[in-house]
Amino acid sequence: MATGKINVSVDNIFPLIKKFLYSDHEIFLRELISNATDATLKLKHLTSIGEAKVEYGNPQIEVRIDKDNKTLHILDQGLGMSEEEVKKYINEVAFSGAEEFLDKYKDAGKEAGIIGHFGLGFYSAFMVADKVEIITKTFRDEPAVHWSCEGSPEFDMQSAERSERGTEIILHIAEDSTEFLEENRIQELLSKYNKFMPIPIKFGTRTETLPKPEGAAEEDPAPTEEVDNIINNPNPAWTKAPADLEEDDYKGFYRELYPMQFEEPLFNIHLNVDYPFNLTGILYFPKLTQDLNTQKDRIQLYQNQVFVTDNVEGIVPEFLTMLRGVIDSPDIPLNVSRSYLQADGNVKKISSYISRKVADKLQSLFKNNREDFEQKWNDIKVVIEYGMLTEEKFFDKAEGFALYPAVDGAYYTYQELVEKTKDAQTDKDGKQIFLYASDPVAQHSYIEAAKAKGYEVLHLDSPIVPHLIQKLESSKENISFTRVDGDHIDNLIKKEDTAISKLDEKQQESLKTEVEEVVKEMGFVVQLEPMDSSASPFIITEPEFMRRMKEMQQTGGGGMFGMGNMPDMYNLVVNTN
Ligand code: ADP
Ligand code: MG
Repeated sequence: MATGKINVSVDNIFPLIKKFLYSDHEIFLRELISNATDATLKLKHLTSIGEAKVEYGNPQIEVRIDKDNKTLHILDQGLGMSEEEVKKYINEVAFSGAEEFLDKYKDAGKEAGIIGHFGLGFYSAFMVADKVEIITKTFRDEPAVHWSCEGSPEFDMQSAERSERGTEIILHIAEDSTEFLEENRIQELLSKYNKFMPIPIKFGTRTETLPKPEGAAEEDPAPTEEVDNIINNPNPAWTKAPADLEEDDYKGFYRELYPMQFEEPLFNIHLNVDYPFNLTGILYFPKLTQDLNTQKDRIQLYQNQVFVTDNVEGIVPEFLTMLRGVIDSPDIPLNVSRSYLQADGNVKKISSYISRKVADKLQSLFKNNREDFEQKWNDIKVVIEYGMLTEEKFFDKAEGFALYPAVDGAYYTYQELVEKTKDAQTDKDGKQIFLYASDPVAQHSYIEAAKAKGYEVLHLDSPIVPHLIQKLESSKENISFTRVDGDHIDNLIKKEDTAISKLDEKQQESLKTEVEEVVKEMGFVVQLEPMDSSASPFIITEPEFMRRMKEMQQTGGGGMFGMGNMPDMYNLVVNTN
């Protein structure tokens, strides 16, 4: 028996990298800038512990296009590589120097925010270039190295002239990838992936207008100056301590994240954990439209300030994918399939942490300023109700802040609602009935009739209400929701003063026959009842169970009942007073 190491031959792996390593070719730039960032952060760490005796200074990363030579350059002032290091880190595909660095410097390296860990990122350059050169000079006292490779396993390595420390990567862009020689395209990639990376990234220059000197004439043009065009904010709000941020900082960061969003967010939630996983971020509750599918500005996922994706499905609980903001975690495995993500223990913990944080924040907003919370309710209810429906733990927590608005503008928590209606709205079996309207204007006369009897009528109108009340009825003891124009309000509610009809039995019998004669073609079921507090001669109601079935079908939840298209069915209740 023996153990050994499989030697991956570069011969085999190259075409694979080119085709399959990343489905998105554009990420090569993210990978190379990540390496440049790592190289700079490593140097920072080594100087801080005295291992590198050089001036750290204010290093930058630069991206430069050379259209004439069809090359794209990425330059950094990081720790550089010696000949030995190039052999080890570059020539051995899949040997990650980042991982080695992390092993060696352990947690200090993690704190330094090192990005790489697969040891394949560099080779993504070959997805867009048919020749790659590295010119690098280590911070140590060793000569610079010039490495070049044309995408085959043979590479060329020589000493080079460069005297300042750091690395330049030169990509000779392939014929099929010339889009990456366009300024606009590179600018687009930089703002997508690198907008919040920790080391300043320069891409060209821009003209800045200076204030006019004193005494300048009206028609004199304002003086201008060419300055470095720095495309990133190296210290985004989520990397700072919540105590150092004001409300305006959060709003400002929202605009930075979503420059095209003009509406301000309702409130924000600053996430910050370091055990048992690392996660930072800021989530915002935007004003939401009722249509849940039209959202385009989504939560962005970062890893050590590098943009990864805005598809956070599986990482953020589903009901919270409607929020906006960023989450940043080095503990979310990247470049892996969604199904793997969902099975990953860390990812599950992250998801439930986020859910809990959101619930806690909602609870404290409610507690600290109920009036403000009530005003925002209409804009946040869809998220909360959806969360109650899909997450058991959130359902429990939401008991403290989920609101049930009444048609007249009052807001109740569940407990308050129970308390408020327990006397007037409990039937003879002790079951408590909550009345609600979904459209107070259309249901006006029913609401008035119910109010006249002293009943409280809620206004529940979000698209998932039928599902939510189903859920409430099954998790709470002895309660039921009934629409204010439902058929059995009066059967269910305890009537203390049983109304007596002005008509005797015989008269009632003939009235019923007469009305039935008229409406039977229309499919109404006729019912007589004295409605003393209502002025209406008759009302039409739809049986509660029919209505619910239909509503659930409309919102996509009715499929499980296999009911097909529900027929219309109505009760006609005729007032015998
Ligand atoms: P990873 O970043 O996951 O370690 P890469 O393939 O991206 O893997 O890079 C391999 C190694 O090459 C890095 O870990 C690093 O040691 C070295 N390297 C790449 N780019 C640079 C650079 N700009 N400066 C210094 N070292 C670099
Ligand atoms: Mg890398």
